[in-house]
Amino acid sequence: MAIAYDDQNIFAKILRGEIPNNTVLETDHTLAFRDIAPQAPVHVLVIPKGPYVSYDHFAAAASDAEIVDFNRTVAKVCAMLNIALDSGGAGFRAISNSGAHGVQEVPHYHLHILGGTPMGRMVSKSVQA
Ligand code: AMP
Repeated sequence: MAIAYDDQNIFAKILRGEIPNNTVLETDHTLAFRDIAPQAPVHVLVIPKGPYVSYDHFAAAASDAEIVDFNRTVAKVCAMLNIALDSGGAGFRAISNSGAHGVQEVPHYHLHILGGTPMGRMVSKSVQA
């Protein structure tokens, strides 16, 4: 079954230029911008420009060019923001919330890049097995 994409979601509106964003990096296939409600000193969202709902949807349906471009953009953003281990940074956390159990609010695939401080445990105790 194909996943339905809602083109009225807020990131689709950002991609169409209907609402502003604080861009960090833009490529042919990918946009990286600051989260409007940052949860850490560095909080950037990386999104594909194509109509993909979630991580798994993107990984299954996007072209090789889109997937490569997305991942290279993540690496460039981490380097630009001085959180990449490869360039001497202290690291970061990458999170993708998918669907109801992932508590995804915006139904356009996005990777949260969080850093600039120790991030604490990965999930809250209440949901640990
Ligand atoms: P998620 O819960 O994984 O779907 O995360 C959605 C994220 O989008 C949240 O961290 C919001 O703060 C962020 N967000 C919502 N609207 C905007 C916007 N207009 N510009 C930047 N970030 C946004």
